Order: sequence, then C-alpha cells, then structure tokens
Amino acid sequence: MLGPIIETFIGGLLTGVLYSLVALGFVLIFKASGVFNFAQGSMVLLAGLALVRSLDWLVAKQRAGYKMTNSTSRIAEMKQFMRGGLQDWNCRAGQNTLIIRTDGTLAPCFPMYSATYDWGTIERPKFEMGPLMEMKKSCQPHCFSTLNHIVGFCYNDARVIKWLFKQAARGFQGVTNWSDD
Ligand code: SF4
Repeated sequence: MLGPIIETFIGGLLTGVLYSLVALGFVLIFKASGVFNFAQGSMVLLAGLALVRSLDWLVAKQRAGYKMTNSTSRIAEMKQFMRGGLQDWNCRAGQNTLIIRTDGTLAPCFPMYSATYDWGTIERPKFEMGPLMEMKKSCQPHCFSTLNHIVGFCYNDARVIKWLFKQAARGFQGVTNWSDD
C-alpha cells in the first residue's frame, strides 16, 4: 500500500526538479541577456545547421591530409543519421565485438549494457544471429556507436582490397587516414 504512495511522491519530485531546471534556464538567459528567449526550436535548428557545416569542414580537412579516426564517408553519414536516413550501417556488435558486464554476463555493445535479454556468459555465449539481426533492425537507425561503426566500415572486402591497392601504389608508405573516396 505504501509502495505506490512513495513511487508517486518520487515521480512528482523528479518531475518538479525537471520543471524547475527548465525555469532556471529561462531565468539564466533572461538575467544574462535581458531577453525572454522562447526560441528553443530555432536554437536547435541553428545548432543542427552549424553541425552540418562542421561535418563538411571535417571532410574537407581529411581530404586535405589531416589524420582522423573516422572515414570521410562515415563523417558524411552523420548527416544522414541526423536526418533519420541511416537505417542499416552494418553493425557487427555481437558478431565481432561484445562487452563483458561486471558479473560475467555478455551483451553485444555498451548501449545494450542494461538490457535484460540473455546473451549468455563468458563461459557460454548465446549470440544467435536471428534475434540479433531482428534487434538491430530497430536499434541501428537510432544508434551511432563509434566503435561499431568503425568495425562495420572495415568489415567490407571491397573496401579492404581497395585500401591495400592504395597502400601498394604508394609503396606501403603514407596512406594512414580514412579518406575513402
Ligand atoms: S546498433 Fe547500436 S545498440 Fe544496436 S547492436 Fe549495434 S551498437 Fe548495439
């Protein structure tokens, strides 16, 4: 009986804290600029546009020879991701990568750390391709795991062969970045 009351009390407290943080944000902006700013939507749009410009800048820099962890096509894919257009990016979690939780159980990736699905333990892994692929249909469009993107990017025979030819053409010297166009 007491459980739902405590639950409601904590829920109310959390909601109250959230509202007060929003109010605090408005007050801070007003105190700093003297303007009541309700244009949050425009701010988000501005941030999105700035990010798109930054990604183009990063691609241009990498083509000019700057070393970066992510490939040019991957950086370009970030724009697709922001627009919700990136559905399948060859996530290899649970196939080539996995995580071991502190209690010895397994999960395909960090975003799935708190998932209750049984993927087995270190001694007995239980990664079945069918359910794993089915799960990825729903999580891939919303996930931009850097590690698994890089693994997925490299898990491509044509890309690896092209990269080797590129290396050979330069005497296996000097091709160290991921510009793949
Ligand atoms: S898409 Fe993301 S959340 Fe889904 S399995 Fe891959 S890394 Fe994990």
